[in-house]
Amino acid sequence: MTRYSRQTVLPEIGERGQEQISKGKVAIIGLGGLGSVMSEGLARAGVGMLRVIDRDVVELSNLQRQALYHEGNVGMAKADVVKEKLQKINSEVEVDARVVEVSPNNVEGLIEDVDIVLDATDNMKTRFLLNDACVKNKVPWIFTAILGTYGMTMNIEPGEGPCLRCLLSVMPDPGSMETCATAGILFSLPRVLANIASTEAVKYLVDADLRPTLLTMDIWKNDYEQIDVARRDGCHCCGEGEYEYLDGDEDVTTELCGRDAVQVSPGERVDIELDKYQERYGAERVGRSLVKFSVDGYELTLFKDGRLIVEGTEDHKKALSVYSEYVGR
Ligand SMILES: [Zn+2]
Repeated sequence: MTRYSRQTVLPEIGERGQEQISKGKVAIIGLGGLGSVMSEGLARAGVGMLRVIDRDVVELSNLQRQALYHEGNVGMAKADVVKEKLQKINSEVEVDARVVEVSPNNVEGLIEDVDIVLDATDNMKTRFLLNDACVKNKVPWIFTAILGTYGMTMNIEPGEGPCLRCLLSVMPDPGSMETCATAGILFSLPRVLANIASTEAVKYLVDADLRPTLLTMDIWKNDYEQIDVARRDGCHCCGEGEYEYLDGDEDVTTELCGRDAVQVSPGERVDIELDKYQERYGAERVGRSLVKFSVDGYELTLFKDGRLIVEGTEDHKKALSVYSEYVGR
């Protein structure tokens, strides 16, 4: 196999390891800065099956950092573009492209038949859901998050070590966290973290021991740290076996007739700090319970109970992306 000769010569991989990689099945959730790099690397490495999942389309603002996409792809579904590119890179790899919103209804079906799952999402809500699904089905996954010049990644092996909720017991309140739309992302940051996480995925496929720590880094300052995270007694998810995000309701989108607008209602009860939106986006406060602001050509109305009306689109998936970008979970 000359195709993989630079890899099989490595003592860490060898012919046997390459054989294991070619039988490996990996799901990549999210095809932005992280997922586009992960999927390219794993296709080149010869992973047998890649399930690439993203609800969104390519936008011009993605091109600054996301691999595989070019100007001609703007407006096309990311998963479809990735599938086409990966098959040109390596026709031996099976690519299963899914243009879907990962939800409590479909998440288990997306992860239960793969060896390992790579988190390349941009929001904590999907990560908590993924943690529930992976712990319940005993599928390992790799948490990776990036913002600004800072990133972190942790390998999660259900039954072996801590889960995401051992690290973060509750989900941060909507609106309390910065998102990539507010804090930005350095062009090179996703590539660094994506390659570290996909290396761990390949290590898993060849039965190597994974890094047991939470790795954090600021690549601008060159600060790198490894932090020990212990399994937490009484963790709701991996301790008590309560899968509240998996059992929770989905965010519901409703089209608002004749308004070119979609309303997103969060699946759980939330309480938004509207002041933050006044500070961050110069949002206009309207009474006690809502603010209005505009971003990316959309007029947004955000209510204290977490509902968001996105004016300027009738596309439900688009409204959900605007929701996770600006309400930020
Ligand atoms: Zn846990």
